[in-house]
Amino acid sequence: MVDWGDRAQASEELELERALKAQRLVAKPAGPSLTLCIRCGGAIPPKRQVLGGITRCMPCQSTFEQGNRR
Ligand SMILES: [Zn+2]
Repeated sequence: MVDWGDRAQASEELELERALKAQRLVAKPAGPSLTLCIRCGGAIPPKRQVLGGITRCMPCQSTFEQGNRR
């Protein structure tokens, strides 16, 4: 006999995963990048600007990410 309970749970988890992925896409910084870093005021390289939603220069971004990770 097939265990429908397990099946339902598996599809629920899949659904949750899909929702999380969609949310992550939405949560991704969008919009135009800044030309100057919000932290140090330094210029943000055009190569970074094309990524979109960039607000920090490379050194500040890595400092920021390291701070987040701790
Ligand atoms: Zn900076």
